[in-house]
Amino acid sequence: MDKQAIVSGLQALLGEDRVQDSPEIIRKASTDYIGFRQYERFDGKDWAPKAACVVKPRGTEEVSRALAFLNQNRVDTVPRTGGSSVTQSIEPEEGGVILDGSEMNGIIALNEQDMLVTAKCGTSLEYLEKYLNERGFTTGHFPQSLSLAQLGGLIATRSIGQFSTLYGGIEDLLVGLEAVLADGEIIRIKNSPRRSVGPDLRHLFIGSEGMLGFITEATIKLFRYRPETRWMRAWAVKDMSTGLDFIREVMVEGYRPAVARLHDAEEVQRMFSGSIPEDYSVILFLAEGPALITAATGQGIAEIAERRQTIDLGTRPVESWLKTRNDACYHIDEPIYYRHGVVADTCEISAPWSGIADIYEAVRERLPREMPNLVSVSGHSSHSYIQGTNIYFMFGFIVKDGTESARTDYMKAISVIMEETLKRGGSIAHHHGSGKYRTRWMPEEHGSSYSLLRKLKEALDPNRILNKGVLLTD
Ligand SMILES: Cc1cc2nc3c(=O)[nH]c(=O)nc-3n(C[C@H](O)[C@H](O)[C@H](O)COP(=O)(O)OP(=O)(O)OC[C@H]3O[C@@H](n4cnc5c(N)ncnc54)[C@H](O)[C@@H]3O)c2cc1C
Repeated sequence: MDKQAIVSGLQALLGEDRVQDSPEIIRKASTDYIGFRQYERFDGKDWAPKAACVVKPRGTEEVSRALAFLNQNRVDTVPRTGGSSVTQSIEPEEGGVILDGSEMNGIIALNEQDMLVTAKCGTSLEYLEKYLNERGFTTGHFPQSLSLAQLGGLIATRSIGQFSTLYGGIEDLLVGLEAVLADGEIIRIKNSPRRSVGPDLRHLFIGSEGMLGFITEATIKLFRYRPETRWMRAWAVKDMSTGLDFIREVMVEGYRPAVARLHDAEEVQRMFSGSIPEDYSVILFLAEGPALITAATGQGIAEIAERRQTIDLGTRPVESWLKTRNDACYHIDEPIYYRHGVVADTCEISAPWSGIADIYEAVRERLPREMPNLVSVSGHSSHSYIQGTNIYFMFGFIVKDGTESARTDYMKAISVIMEETLKRGGSIAHHHGSGKYRTRWMPEEHGSSYSLLRKLKEALDPNRILNKGVLLTD
């Protein structure tokens, strides 16, 4: 179907004002924050808007009508809400359509008795959290992109927040949802505290990156909001390996601080001024919840610290992190690194405790050796479990020869991280997802279970219209 026929077909179904085809709107809706694209944008590289149009439905019925039309006409379709992805996940195919749920926003119901809130897919997490805090509740979900991300995307990417060690990721918070399948069928997964009725169908959508359906509404858990009972403390440790072992002990002994973060020496020097010895890593802990539990958590962690070789840094590093933790979002459209000819970005992986320190060391050793233009590579652990943790690598390199080399070198850095992770039994994406730039490693990540993903795709989207290029190699 040609672009004009798509635009007029959708306009006839939803109204002219719901379908936008100006190059500027399409370009903006197609681009996320992956490092090399940011560089291209600042470099003025005017990459052509590929999609035919951006469609902004007002509600579930309109999503259903739009998808039925797009499916019948085999039009590639990219679901989108906040556009804060960092994985090229919202870049459309030539002649495709961007189905943008960001105008489907607002809270549908607050159920204080069952501790649930239901909201539309385009509801911003920042708005939702503020609304809940004013009523004494919290979602417990604080990704750094709180001010950018919206509910549909948060579910579709399997997002996680900075307080996840207590509250969990979105998979622990999502109770029920409504979605529209590729052919326009509307389905609802009801809210239940737990049930034993077969596979958990919520997981078809959590982390699906828009390739199995369009999420229109979601119900998530509530927690009591008690920032006043917080306990916090920081310690310096001699290296990452020692710090990882410290966090492991905290987790294995059964403590659940909301925050357990370990920053390597390079990040420590960037983040904290003052009396932290130069080569030391820093661990930040924060506990919250009922006062008695918080106090016990703090006491338990402090006892573990005393038995180890640590330097007590008090509360200031945690307070400082709390204040500045989301600053990156407020400066995201400023060419801070570009001005220095640098591409800077992050890449997160996870692994069992037995492999994580080796992955960190291997990446830190190999990247500078293989990329002479690398200016930094650092890492922190920010989401821990009884079985293991994540490492969030941060890297930057000088662009040697324009935007094409920026992209090639970017993928070189990612390749090293993916390879060193897979070699040691780790997982290649802890919370940003596959998007379109990590897809090539998905077969190795999933092994023999990868065929299930293909079969799910065949069953739910046989015409393969939804978000081509994420998760599935073909
Ligand atoms: C500065 C910064 C910090 C970040 N920090 C974190 C962090 O701490 N934790 C974290 O997990 N992530 C983080 N991210 C990544 C990003 O914010 C998350 O992936 C977020 O969940 C994306 O939500 P969104 O609404 O912006 O989705 P979008 O960018 O619009 O879409 C992301 C993906 O979800 C799909 N999708 C979107 N809406 C729907 C829908 N309604 N139905 C089906 N599929 C849909 C899209 O097709 C795409 O594959 C960060 C990003 C930035 C830029």
